[in-house]
Amino acid sequence: MISRPRTDVVVIGGGICGLWLRALLTRSGYGVTLIDRGPLGDGQTMHSQGILHRGVKYAFSESARDTSELLKAAGDRWDQAMRGEGIVDLRGVASLSPTTYLWTVGTLDSLTAWTASKAMRSAVHEVGRSGFPPVFAGAPGSVRVWSVDEPVVDPGSLLNRVLSQGEGAILRGRVVRLTENPDGSGVEVGVASGDDPTRRFEVAASCVVCTAGEGNRELLGLWAGGDEGACQVRPLRMAMIDGAPFDLYGHCPRPGSDKPRLTVTTGDRDGSRVWYVGGDVAERGVGQAPAAFHDSIRSEIARCLPWLRFPGARIASVMINRAEGRTPGGRRPDGPVVRAFGRVMAVWPTKLAFTPIAADMAFKEIHDRVPDAARSVSRDPEIEVEIGRTPWSASGVEWVRF
Ligand SMILES: Cc1cc2nc3c(=O)[nH]c(=O)nc-3n(C[C@H](O)[C@H](O)[C@H](O)COP(=O)(O)OP(=O)(O)OC[C@H]3O[C@@H](n4cnc5c(N)ncnc54)[C@H](O)[C@@H]3O)c2cc1C
Repeated sequence: MISRPRTDVVVIGGGICGLWLRALLTRSGYGVTLIDRGPLGDGQTMHSQGILHRGVKYAFSESARDTSELLKAAGDRWDQAMRGEGIVDLRGVASLSPTTYLWTVGTLDSLTAWTASKAMRSAVHEVGRSGFPPVFAGAPGSVRVWSVDEPVVDPGSLLNRVLSQGEGAILRGRVVRLTENPDGSGVEVGVASGDDPTRRFEVAASCVVCTAGEGNRELLGLWAGGDEGACQVRPLRMAMIDGAPFDLYGHCPRPGSDKPRLTVTTGDRDGSRVWYVGGDVAERGVGQAPAAFHDSIRSEIARCLPWLRFPGARIASVMINRAEGRTPGGRRPDGPVVRAFGRVMAVWPTKLAFTPIAADMAFKEIHDRVPDAARSVSRDPEIEVEIGRTPWSASGVEWVRF
């Protein structure tokens, strides 16, 4: 067993939330040790579509207006960070697209998009036909397109950049013990090494923050007084279409719903263009077998983008859970959720776009418990950190003809 020096804060989980919090704590003088069981962000962050939502998706429906307002506030924080003016400096993060598009094929859909554009006046602008991006160039006259001031970032590049803004040891392993120390002044964290599970690390900290997404459930179960039930998951079956004909970043809305019919972003797979497709179709896909799901993707694409052809394209799907703080009825929380159980806390940003706000909320809880940072930064001389892969780059994906 290897005992490591005491640190101010142990952060468990190195997705976007844990890495952002680590950077914030480092900048504020706290010593941080980060623990992750696998490649960083190898949960929701690397499965995300990378859209820094400004709330337009949620302006479609009355019930999601609070989320929409909070996302606008978070958007200012991202803008600052992208300009290098925030606490976390995101200059150099790879942008996949500076905007997303909202496109509609029928009159009712257009009305929905028009309503959202009124609610989000400064962020949504209708695009004239001459300004259509290539993906809409062959669309029939009934198709309307709005540009949304909503950037899309490359999640891997984002993780790398945020990682570089923090300091302190990074341990790879599974947390097997979370106990209060005998005088109640901190938490002892037992970790089974990821390389050799018979090797154990012991880390002592003034407090512990769990930012492990779905993994928070198991972690809270280890802490006496923690509540495993504080976490809820909402699954998705996302589609991947390899060999798509154009780049596309955008939503095809559904009247009266904050769930678009389709949300499409574009990635790269060894030089081939991959569409990553979510939205309502991905929620419904959870209960479907892959073949039935592929059929519903084909029919939604034929409905929303009927002018496009996909010669030689292939399709696959991936199941992934969204992990969130529990709400009554299991609906999506309006914003980030932080739950504190004494010296152990759990954070769920709810959306990648909420991360700056989630990290601020967690920071406040930490500061209440550990007002004076001891600056106990422990560095590992050679940290080999691996970032997770996109789902379409993962091994074992079963591609079939689209
Ligand atoms: C398909 C999909 C698309 C999405 N698209 C968007 C989008 O476009 N825009 C947006 O704003 N939001 C989006 N989201 C939501 C967004 O991805 C998440 O809110 C955000 O990434 C959560 O980040 P996180 O750091 O809390 O968790 P995660 O990214 O899940 O990171 C958790 C980390 O904890 C580690 N871990 C897990 N268990 C343990 C354990 N027991 N011990 C140690 N480490 C552990 C994992 O290895 C991982 O590194 C999407 C989500 C999904 C599923």
